Amino acid sequence: MPETDPVEISFAVALAAARDDLSGQMEAGRDAEILLGHAAGVSRSQLLAHPERLLTLEQYGVFRNMLGRRCNGEPVAYLTGCREFWSLPLKVTPATLVPRPETESLVEQALILLPPGDELEVLDLGTGCGAIALAIAGERSHCRVTGSDVCEDALRVARENQDRLAVENIEWAQGSWYQAVAERKFDLIVSNPPYVADGDPHLEQGDLPHEPALALVGGKDGLNAIREIVDGAPGHLNKPGWLLLEHGFDQQKSVMELLIAAGFAKVCGHQDLAGIPRVVSARLRTNRDTDND
Ligand code: GLN
Repeated sequence: MPETDPVEISFAVALAAARDDLSGQMEAGRDAEILLGHAAGVSRSQLLAHPERLLTLEQYGVFRNMLGRRCNGEPVAYLTGCREFWSLPLKVTPATLVPRPETESLVEQALILLPPGDELEVLDLGTGCGAIALAIAGERSHCRVTGSDVCEDALRVARENQDRLAVENIEWAQGSWYQAVAERKFDLIVSNPPYVADGDPHLEQGDLPHEPALALVGGKDGLNAIREIVDGAPGHLNKPGWLLLEHGFDQQKSVMELLIAAGFAKVCGHQDLAGIPRVVSARLRTNRDTDND
């Protein structure tokens, strides 16, 4: 039989079997639809609108292979090679963390601090696939955004995303945290750093075992990278410059204390859309700040 001949398996039958295979996993139905749409080269809505359409043998093979890997815990975004963030279709690979919806709260807070039209310098430390940097650069065309990462493979993905989205006001820098940017100073530094504690059981669950530990694990209390970023920030911020950090659900108080101890003013915690404390913003103290700020 030629490879493109249809086997007698319709979208509806393939989906029902896949939902069964994935049952017990969160979002089994959604994952099955995304994977089948990817294998068949159609959108999720086309898939649901035409349940009677037949898969080719090749499409069915691709779908079953992806399903097997999903059953072993591989993130859907690594199987399809893409994930949407801030409405941007982004390429992701196992060299990059899969962008999370909660990180959109970090972008929202950054945009509040970046008035449209102002020509400001923004740094996204540990940019991964470039999600935060690309979202900010797209919303604030007057800003000049730099995305840094220690991992060259991640930066390659970020550059590809930039090319595909045709975002011009962005550049990339390779290096560990501030080593990537030498003596440069910025008006706003933003980061979603690794913040999960070593040995946290959550690292063994869901998609996390397949994601880069470098982008997830932040030492004994999860705060190693955050400490390094906070300590180096005063040397890399213009006055008055802002630092914005994503953190774990139970870390907000500690992150706020680190920022106050490092001489920041206007230290403020924010929640994500699920109501979980997720982001802290702080401004470098200027001579005009009082102790109450
Ligand atoms: N929010 C991620 C998780 O816990 C962790 C991301 C990170 O360490 N920056 O699944």
